[in-house]
Amino acid sequence: TSFWSDVPQAPLDPIIGVWADGRADTDPRTLNLTAGAYRTEEGKPYLLEAVRRAERMLLDDPTQHKEYRGMKGDPELCRVSAQMAFGEESDVLLRHRNATVQGISGTGSLMVGAHFLSHHQSVKLLLVSSPTWANHHSIFSGAGFKLQPYRYYSPATHLLDYEGMIEDLSAAPEGAVVLLHACAHNPTGVDPSLEQWHGVLRVVRQRRLLPFFDSAYQGFASGSLEQDAAAIRLFADAGLEMLLAQSYAKNMGLYNERAGALTVVCADAEAVKRVESQLHEVIRPIYSDPPAHGAAIVTTIMKSPELYGLWKEELVVMSSRVALMRQHLYQALVDLAVPGDWTHILKQIGMFSYTGLTKEQAVEIVNQAKSFTKRIFEWTDTSSGKGAIDQEQFFKATSAQ
Ligand code: PLP
Repeated sequence: TSFWSDVPQAPLDPIIGVWADGRADTDPRTLNLTAGAYRTEEGKPYLLEAVRRAERMLLDDPTQHKEYRGMKGDPELCRVSAQMAFGEESDVLLRHRNATVQGISGTGSLMVGAHFLSHHQSVKLLLVSSPTWANHHSIFSGAGFKLQPYRYYSPATHLLDYEGMIEDLSAAPEGAVVLLHACAHNPTGVDPSLEQWHGVLRVVRQRRLLPFFDSAYQGFASGSLEQDAAAIRLFADAGLEMLLAQSYAKNMGLYNERAGALTVVCADAEAVKRVESQLHEVIRPIYSDPPAHGAAIVTTIMKSPELYGLWKEELVVMSSRVALMRQHLYQALVDLAVPGDWTHILKQIGMFSYTGLTKEQAVEIVNQAKSFTKRIFEWTDTSSGKGAIDQEQFFKATSAQ
């Protein structure tokens, strides 16, 4: 017998499941819209030019080494990350109120924050938007938190249910943690307006909630680092203590380099020392030392005025293309006279969209795609069989079916 004979098969992550189906689909017209990764017009992954140049500089830099650096990771990465989020003039930075550590991209930074809170925050309740990124559930329930949804997405308007959100946060117990997407909400694409953020801030203060910002898309949503940090800065400027997880996966295209940071904003610099020591306690037994290369790319770009300028241009290129895809989708629906009001597709932001399709409609699309793939196999079996498909002939042969 094996030690593992009783290990059950874990359920397939719903997003990864659709992704796997998509990969198996050989239809040249099938696009993978499941994973949150930017692709070029040609459907290829995009390596930013600023990143390519930074990597070249690092290769030739004789001061680079691969020695351990300790739990905090790269102090320079911590500094530039906090500066990018809060702004140079922020009181948080001027009074050294941030305990910042390097994290393993956004996910790992959230995880360190969750485990820090599980030891040092008394109310183990996390308020999350309904819906939210599925991994929030795994990360925080694994750290001993009970999760409670607050109303966020309105199925009626496909936009924000602001009143519902405020009502639910107002009813939350004092001291609970509230998870907020800094911008480009995943999975709905629905963000509060600045005025609505002011309202959220009011309740957070009244109820003495602890905000935890998840910032995975700064600069990638609007193309402006400042604009996408507006909510974070609003809360920080109000003098609140809070947490912030940052990722460079999307905005620098560093998906597999795992560069990120976690900040705990404290009341004063004295608290920072104690808090940072506890963050190190969390990090030490998990991975001890975060990976250096992605962080070095980030700091190289941030410290070079030329590369920083180039990066900001590339942020505009990426975010504009995403916005253009939204316009194309909207226009296609209008041109095809698909019943319904699709303007929410334009009002939402970032890579994700709650289109308003029902579950049944979505399942129907997947099934149609699958039967289309099946027809490809049938057709290739009965015609030339092997080799490249003549697309024109193929579409003629299958479109009638
Ligand atoms: N948080 C949100 C809301 C996200 O959408 C993502 C990525 O999809 C992440 C965090 C973290 O991603 P990563 O760990 O790749 O930085």
